[in-house]
Amino acid sequence: MQTNLAPEFRGTPDGEEADAILRACVHCGFCTATCPTYQLLGDELDGPRGRIYLIKEMLEGAAVSAKTQLHLDRCLTCRSCETTCPSGVRYGRLVDIGRRIVDERVGRGTAESALRWSLRKGLVSRPLFGGALALGRIAKAFVPSQMSRRIPASSPAGAWPAARHARRMIALEGCVQPSIAPSIDAALARVLDRVGISLVRVGGGGCCAALPFHLDDHDGARAYARRNIDAWWPHVEAGAEAIVVTASGCGVMVKDYAHLLARDPAYAARGERVAALARDTIEVVAPEWKSIAPLVALDKGPQRVAFHAPCSLQHGMRIRGEVEEILRAIGHELLPVADAHLCCGSAGTYSILQPELSSRLRRNKLAALEADRPNVIASANIGCQTHLAAGTSRPVRHWIELLDERMFGGSPAGRR
Ligand code: SF4
Ligand code: SF4
Repeated sequence: MQTNLAPEFRGTPDGEEADAILRACVHCGFCTATCPTYQLLGDELDGPRGRIYLIKEMLEGAAVSAKTQLHLDRCLTCRSCETTCPSGVRYGRLVDIGRRIVDERVGRGTAESALRWSLRKGLVSRPLFGGALALGRIAKAFVPSQMSRRIPASSPAGAWPAARHARRMIALEGCVQPSIAPSIDAALARVLDRVGISLVRVGGGGCCAALPFHLDDHDGARAYARRNIDAWWPHVEAGAEAIVVTASGCGVMVKDYAHLLARDPAYAARGERVAALARDTIEVVAPEWKSIAPLVALDKGPQRVAFHAPCSLQHGMRIRGEVEEILRAIGHELLPVADAHLCCGSAGTYSILQPELSSRLRRNKLAALEADRPNVIASANIGCQTHLAAGTSRPVRHWIELLDERMFGGSPAGRR
């Protein structure tokens, strides 16, 4: 698509990057069919091709309005359109640029700005979020069931094995996951410990940066990325093999640190190194499968499992089918899930900022996941898990917990 950038964008890094992305788009519209918001709303401007056009017009100097902002806000950044696109258009990057410019031009009302500010500050602060969650859990018994379902139940972590192996990997500290489900990282630590790898918590880090980034606080996001790099760096230099992220929504962000910090001379090289070391859970489990398989107890009987592949895993990282293979290999029955490419509506803070669309997407997703009455819904991202769990009475768990439960052996500390 030919674009004539307005003078203020010519020669700027964002303008040039957007121009290159726009040139790749041939306007074919294949992506529209797989866009969840287009499917719900049926408006071209609520699909990728329409949003691309809005961003192109803005970069060419057209006036922008609250309507432009709304169409971009309704996008989940699920990147299903990237998977479908035959021309390799990097839509996710384009919409990040577009949103930042729209927000600068149009601004936001006081109430919305306050909500976004409180999400940026509240969710990334572990003491604040952990305290609020603890209070919510106490109040859970006294509030209506519709509300109590939104408060995630506690899941005890179990033992975290001591760091006893020469092979080491670093765990992302994260922000909300340690309060909601400390069991996830601990399960991965036990799985890896049994095959000779210590997963270490290094302290000093925190939020991966995705939360502020997707709330258009790009400077704040860079600050979180630098903080994590500072915390990890001594361990990277000491030979840590990987930085493992059990929430795929966070993993896709850490893998983007090279891009996020590319214009920061002090951190660009470190950002690149860290991004190259970042791994999703499946990317450290699959290569060790030959050592893990003999430690799996296959006599526990199959559970009927429906796997929800998070968008960050299947579209963001392009990892498809591998988790399902492991779940089958440990003896579970994997149920078919219709429209598995579609987002569940969680999408970071989308469920709070676009509650109606988010609820409709969750209803559709749960209908697909529960069609064959699974015993458990498995996923790979804490955001999807808590969002789905709020709409069903079935257990929703991270798949690494299902693997941990089926393994035996390892250190006594590793047994539950
Ligand atoms: S983003 Fe890709 S699929 Fe969508 S209109 Fe452009 S070229 Fe076609
Ligand atoms: S990222 Fe998802 S919601 Fe946004 S345009 Fe692409 S497919 Fe649609």
